Amino acid sequence: MNRYESTVAWREVDDYFTEILTPEDSALIVARESGAETTMPNAEVAPNQGALLGLLTQIAGARRVLEFGTLAGYSTIWFARAVGPDGQVVTLELEDKNADIARANFDNAGLADRIDLLVGPATQSTQQLIDSRTEPFDLVFIDADKPSNPAYLDAALKLTTRGATIIIDNVVRDGKVTEPDSGDPRVDGVRAAADIIAAHPELDATAIQTVGVKGWDGLIIARRR
Ligand code: SAM
Repeated sequence: MNRYESTVAWREVDDYFTEILTPEDSALIVARESGAETTMPNAEVAPNQGALLGLLTQIAGARRVLEFGTLAGYSTIWFARAVGPDGQVVTLELEDKNADIARANFDNAGLADRIDLLVGPATQSTQQLIDSRTEPFDLVFIDADKPSNPAYLDAALKLTTRGATIIIDNVVRDGKVTEPDSGDPRVDGVRAAADIIAAHPELDATAIQTVGVKGWDGLIIARRR
């Protein structure tokens, strides 16, 4: 199979499993399609990855989720459903335009009461959460600007305690993650975060590669001992 044929096959397999195992309802479809109106079209997680995030949230028994990078709120909806009616998701977004679209999607999904959307640079929003001694989060999803991954990981460590799960998206980047001299600050951001995790005495972690409708990429999943 050449590269093109592989990509087509990945998509077909994603579509097959998404259709039978993780079908989207209308609120998710509207949220995903509204991504086209944001500042970063097509940057939301794939449907089966959204389902994975929801399952990981439930497997971890997470009640409080912190998300870096809201976009149109597609992944946020998966988290908000997974935490249940007593849970809360705090999601951080830089762009007003994206935040407006996400808010409409949260209303449409009937989930606005369990989602807190903070608009502004995520480093500032997390500093406010740290300063206000917010209750620790059970799960953190890092999916904003990739060069800032080390700063976001640092904030995540300040906002979590033992047993927390930390997930970082887009860590494979078509395999470029293995190139120390890629010249791509997004790759540097992933590698720096991986180095911090590797050196941290309280973190167990692994990375999984994914292929599918979003191409070749992957996630780091870490847990605080
Ligand atoms: N998690 C979303 C999903 O799967 O549906 C996708 C998030 S998208 C990959 C990244 C988002 O991070 C964009 O909406 C972008 O505007 C936002 N972003 C970029 N830089 C940011 C910053 N400094 N602070 C907060 N959000 C930022």
